[in-house]
Amino acid sequence: MKLIEHFVNGKIIPGSSDKKGKVFNPATGEQESEVRLASKSDLDSTVEVAKKAFETWSFKPALQRARIIFKFKELIEKNSDELTKLIVSEHGKVYEDARGSLTRGLEVVEFACGIPHLLKGEFSENVGTNVDSWSIRQPLGVVAGITPFNFPAMVPMWMFPIAIACGNTFVLKPSEKDPSCAIRLAELLSEAGLPEGVFNVINGDKEAVDAILENKDIKAVSFVGSTPIAKYIYENSAKNEKRVQALGGAKNHLVVMPDCDLDGAVNGLMGAAYGSAGERCMAQSVAVAVGDIGDELVSRLSKKAEALKVGPGMDKASEMGPLVTKEHLEKVTSYVDLGVKEGAKLVVDGRGLKLQGYENGFYIGGCLFDHVNKDMRIYKEEIFGPVLSVVRVKTFEEAAKLINDHEYGNGVSIYTRDGDAGRTFASKIQVGMVGINVPIPVPMAFHSFGGWKRSLFGDSGMHGMEGIKFYTKLKTVTSRWPSGVRSNAEFVMPTMK
Ligand code: NAD
Repeated sequence: MKLIEHFVNGKIIPGSSDKKGKVFNPATGEQESEVRLASKSDLDSTVEVAKKAFETWSFKPALQRARIIFKFKELIEKNSDELTKLIVSEHGKVYEDARGSLTRGLEVVEFACGIPHLLKGEFSENVGTNVDSWSIRQPLGVVAGITPFNFPAMVPMWMFPIAIACGNTFVLKPSEKDPSCAIRLAELLSEAGLPEGVFNVINGDKEAVDAILENKDIKAVSFVGSTPIAKYIYENSAKNEKRVQALGGAKNHLVVMPDCDLDGAVNGLMGAAYGSAGERCMAQSVAVAVGDIGDELVSRLSKKAEALKVGPGMDKASEMGPLVTKEHLEKVTSYVDLGVKEGAKLVVDGRGLKLQGYENGFYIGGCLFDHVNKDMRIYKEEIFGPVLSVVRVKTFEEAAKLINDHEYGNGVSIYTRDGDAGRTFASKIQVGMVGINVPIPVPMAFHSFGGWKRSLFGDSGMHGMEGIKFYTKLKTVTSRWPSGVRSNAEFVMPTMK
C-alpha cells in the first residue's frame, strides 16, 4: 500500500513515528494509501530546517522570489489535470468542481507574483528638518498553515504563496484525510526553483498540530477548519505568543425575496447547497423564504434535488460526489435523522443511497427540509453535507434578524430585484462575505476572504492585502544624516521641527 510521507528540505522524507492514518477513495470506499503522522520531534526538526532557510530566503530580492512564484504558476497550469485527479481521488468531489477550486488557488499564486509591488512601503521626506521617515514590511520568520480536508489545494494556496512571496518560510500541516495534493504542490515548488527548506509539508494529526502551537520558532499560524478547533488554535497560538488567524465553520443563509428571479435563486441554491456535497464553508445550507415565496421555492427545489445526479467524481455525468469518509457520511445521515425527530418536514430524503458498482462508496443523495425553525439543531449546527433547510419568515427584517442572531457569520446571499433591499442587506448584515444575486460570494484573490463572529478568530482574513499584512511586520525608520552643528541631548518627547 502506498505510504504518503513528509516533504522537508526539498525532498520526501520518512518521519520518525510509526503512527499512520488511513486515506480512502470516497467513490469506492476503498483504502488507497496510508499517511505518516508526524511526532513532535519530526515537527521540531522541520522547523529548524525552515528557520535556517529563512536566513537566506528572506533577504532574496522580492523580484527574485516573484520569478519563482511565476514559474510555480506555470507548473500548476501544466499539471492541473494531475492535481485535480489527486483532489478527486482523496476528497471525492466531481472533477470540474475540483478543477475550479484549483483555479481559485492559482489566482492567489497570480496575486503573489506581484509581490515587489505589494511590498512597497511608505516614505515621507522631511518629517522634520532634514529628517526622513519610511515604513517597510518585513517577513516574520517560520510560519505554519493547518488546513481542512475540503479544499486540499485551494485552502493551503490561500496561505503559502503569499507567505513565501513575503519572504517567510512555511510548514504546512494538511488534512490527514487527503494529504497527497500538498506533497505534489511541494514538489512543483521545488521544480520551480524554490530553495530547499522554504516550503515543507508535515503530515499529522493533533500531535503535529500541538507541536506547531508549542514551537517557539513558529511566528504565525494560519488555520482553516471547524470552529471548536479554530478556537483552540486561536487560544493556544496567542498563549504561545504567535500571530494567528483561525477560520472556522459556517451556517450560510440565502435569502429569497418574493420579488426575485426565482429560477436564478433556485439554480443558485442548487449549486451552493449541493455542490461539493455541501462540504464547503461557503455552502448555502439555509434558504430563507420571505413572504409568500415558500411553497413555490420548495416545489421547484424539490424537483431539482430529486433529479440530482450523484456518482463518482471522475464520472462526467456526476453533479455531486460522495462524502469524504464513512464517519462523515454517518454524521450527516444522523443529522437528517435528527431533523425528522425535531419535526422538520423532510421533502427530499437522500439517505441510504447505494450506487451500482460503488456500493461501498460514501454516498448520500441531496436532502431537503422544509419548515425548519431557529430552535432546531439542524438549523443551529453546521452539518457539512448536502442538506438544505428552508426556513420561512414573513419579512425582510425577520430574515435579517435570523441571520444576525446566528453564531456563525461566514457567507450570506440575498436574491432580490429591489436595490434598496440589496443595499440595506449589504450594509446591515452581520456576516463577512455578502452576495447580492450571487450564490457563493467567495472573494477573489486580490480581495480578502474571511467571516465574522465564530467563523473567524483573529483580525485578518486570508489573501489579498490582509494576507500581506498578516505575513509581514511593520518597521518604521526615522533618519537624519547630520551635517553642520551636532545637536545636544534632548530629554523631552521629540516633536519634529
Ligand atoms: P477540522 O477542524 O476537523 O480539521 C482541520 C485541521 O485541524 C486538520 O488539519 C486536522 O488535522 C486538525 N485537527 C483536527 N482535530 C484536531 C484537534 N483535536 N486538535 C488539533 N488539530 C486538529 O476540519 P475539517 O473537518 O478538516 O474541515 C471541515 C471544517 O472546516 C468545516 O467546519 C468547514 O466549515 C471548515 N472550513 C472553513 C473554511 C473557512 O474559510 N471558514 C474553509 C474551509 C473549511
